[in-house]
Amino acid sequence: MAKNGNLSAAEKKGVSNCPTCTHGINSNRAKIWPLKDMESDHETPWSKGGATTAANCEMLCKSHNSDKGNV
Ligand SMILES: [Zn+2]
Repeated sequence: MAKNGNLSAAEKKGVSNCPTCTHGINSNRAKIWPLKDMESDHETPWSKGGATTAANCEMLCKSHNSDKGNV
């Protein structure tokens, strides 16, 4: 059961590391996405002057990031 002692905060809580997934009603609520399956999302889009900073970005799973990208 011991992995490597390097669990993320999301894993410790048993919730997904994609904030949009945690609001879902399916099994993805607790899914821990590997970084390669995630993309950074600008909370304030480039077109509205959003900067590429940690404060303006959140990591979403690729499926949710592409959902938002179409809005
Ligand atoms: Zn997601």
